[in-house]
Amino acid sequence: MKRTRLSICARKRRYGSEEEAREAIVRAAIILRPYRCDRCEMFHLTSRTKGKRVARPVG
Ligand SMILES: [Zn+2]
Repeated sequence: MKRTRLSICARKRRYGSEEEAREAIVRAAIILRPYRCDRCEMFHLTSRTKGKRVARPVG
């Protein structure tokens, strides 16, 4: 994984553990994925999922 930009790290919410991050995901209305930040050593959430969008029924 590429390094997290420091500016992104600074403005993102930080979670002390992956469990904590996952709890936030459960409450969120959109698909999120937790990842370990190599800047602050904590967890952030990202809406990007390996460049592959989650399929949504159309119509
Ligand atoms: Zn960070």
